[in-house]
Amino acid sequence: MASEPCESCGDDVPIGGGIAAIWSMEPQGTGGMTLELEDGTEHFLCFECISRLPDEPTAEDVADVAAAADAAEDADAERGDDDE
Ligand SMILES: [Zn+2]
Repeated sequence: MASEPCESCGDDVPIGGGIAAIWSMEPQGTGGMTLELEDGTEHFLCFECISRLPDEPTAEDVADVAAAADAAEDADAERGDDDE
């Protein structure tokens, strides 16, 4: 089975049958999907991260969820913008 890293939390997400199966609405065995946002960008996210997004997510919301997932993973690591 193929897998793809979630763009938000970085977990490997199993994708049953590949991308085509995602678009044909076959979620069985699949842990995430590619979201196309209002601004035209595409993000592959696991369902857990998708469930944290608001109804009409923007790239900013995806980044917010990513930051929250990061913060949850390293609860004692400081969040900052200076670690490029
Ligand atoms: Zn995720």
